[in-house]
Amino acid sequence: MAMLSSRFMWKRILFQRGMAVAAFFLACSISFVPRTAAQAPPPLAAAPKALQTPARPKLVVLLVVDQMRGDYVDKFLGQWTGGLKRLVEEGAWFRDAAYPYAATETCVGHSTISTGAFPSTHGMVANAWWDRKEQKMVTCTSDPDPSVKNIGYAGATPKGADTAWRMAVPSFAEELKFQTSGVTRIVTFSLKARAAITMAGHKADAATWFDGGAWVTSSPYGTMPFIEEQAKAHPAKADFGKTWSLSLPASAYWYGEKALGAVPPDGWDLTFPHPLRGKTGVGEPDSAYYEQWASSPYADTALTELAEKAVDALKLGNSNGTDFLAVSYSSVDYVGHEFGPRSREIQDILVRLDKDLGNLFAHLDQRVGRGNYVVALSADHGVVPIPEDMQKTGADAGVLHLPKVQEHIEKALESFNYAKPAVARISGSDVYFATGVYEKLAADSNAMNAVLDAIRAAPGVAAVYRAEELRDRPATQSPTRRAFSYSYFPGRSGDLFILPKSYWLLDGTPLGKPRSYGTGHGVPYNYDQHVPVLLMGFGIQPGQYFQPITPADIAPTFAALCGITLASRDGHILAESLKKSEPRRSPPQAIKTTKP
Ligand SMILES: [Zn+2]
Repeated sequence: MAMLSSRFMWKRILFQRGMAVAAFFLACSISFVPRTAAQAPPPLAAAPKALQTPARPKLVVLLVVDQMRGDYVDKFLGQWTGGLKRLVEEGAWFRDAAYPYAATETCVGHSTISTGAFPSTHGMVANAWWDRKEQKMVTCTSDPDPSVKNIGYAGATPKGADTAWRMAVPSFAEELKFQTSGVTRIVTFSLKARAAITMAGHKADAATWFDGGAWVTSSPYGTMPFIEEQAKAHPAKADFGKTWSLSLPASAYWYGEKALGAVPPDGWDLTFPHPLRGKTGVGEPDSAYYEQWASSPYADTALTELAEKAVDALKLGNSNGTDFLAVSYSSVDYVGHEFGPRSREIQDILVRLDKDLGNLFAHLDQRVGRGNYVVALSADHGVVPIPEDMQKTGADAGVLHLPKVQEHIEKALESFNYAKPAVARISGSDVYFATGVYEKLAADSNAMNAVLDAIRAAPGVAAVYRAEELRDRPATQSPTRRAFSYSYFPGRSGDLFILPKSYWLLDGTPLGKPRSYGTGHGVPYNYDQHVPVLLMGFGIQPGQYFQPITPADIAPTFAALCGITLASRDGHILAESLKKSEPRRSPPQAIKTTKP
């Protein structure tokens, strides 16, 4: 950082000095050199060009692959031929990129990429959290403002109201639009509201997601005719009856036919091919069909088509400013939750996504121009292997049952004077106590110790942190405590925080019910934190980079390329991967030769 700023500063000084000298010699040359029509024109043209502001990308493209682990690139790169391969070969590949915080969830990761800030700054601490005032769970995008409404395309009537009002800082895209007089168009797509909305920010030209079989937006974002057209021309239900089959020969797959511990969507079994026909025997799209569709490569293709339509309809990348296009591909996440990271399904859906991204880049080359746009691809989090699968290796792996922990806490407080239930909610790592309970515990060390001991005694628990240990990002040698402190946002985060042992899945399934998914994410271990970061195109120096970075570095790097400032960033500019400017011709020397 410091190095980069001083380097930029130094360049600027050289540049300014160069211009002053150039101006002086230009003046001299005009006064003293008699010119004839036959003489070649003096290099006057160079001066005004050098005075222009630095070039900027015409279009910034952000691609997020939901739940894409960093090691998928290392493992499967050899089988890719399209966009993913091109990103690695023509772009900058950061091989040690990881989130530094604990809450490795979708809303958190997308907000971090979008703003360049950590959750302790942007406030999106989870997909959903316990609202102490409302005494209920709220999603990160739910907006209680009665004037806000979700709007459906192609006649759909979605429920709810979703915006970015809980995101405490502006997105990179919003800053870009604001700082460049509003010429920037902001367009985002995802299957998930919490991805499309957080990538866009509080306002956008279009932020579109998928809900109940239809494309949806909400009132602050408005609607777009080209999305309406696409929603009518190629609705998700048009893929009904298709079959997801393996794209490569069976010998090309790393893992067995059946992923151990997998929980496929209704209507699918554990092996390929996977038919998109809803529940067996149903002749038309039902809710099971849309779950299958969202868990298939067809959803990625639909998002890619929407992105291409946006480029064409709005002529993104062809205005006087810099436009912003973002797509979050959700299907890898659904497939990962169902089949786990060690599955043919994950490997295959990435082969298909690679083709979609190849098409998208070819489209951008044609409409915007190769080298005129910059792309970043990353993920919002990784995923842990399915615990039953991991246990096969002999590793200490398992399921940490959160309702069981809640029972233990209530039991521990029985011998103290506390109203029941003392716990309002356990959501992921966060334990929220009923109103007034935590304040009472904080002044009652015997009861607090009983609670902490009860949590630590549960199978799979590695540690418990208290809110006051995490506030204000204290200096600490503990990487996990630091990770929880980067996630901590006062008022929204819990009172206590459970750190599971590594390879132990935090599971909130009610006691006595079977788990409805294979595996998950959301903790501060590398399998959840390590994600790809790939940059390509305008201003990017290709290569492999091994220094540790975080996805919060993407927005500051975009900001540097676009010449804008982010107020509340925690990330840094990825200076190593930025092309240094073209060497300038030296006007003083050129002019000297014309002197008598
Ligand atoms: Zn996610």
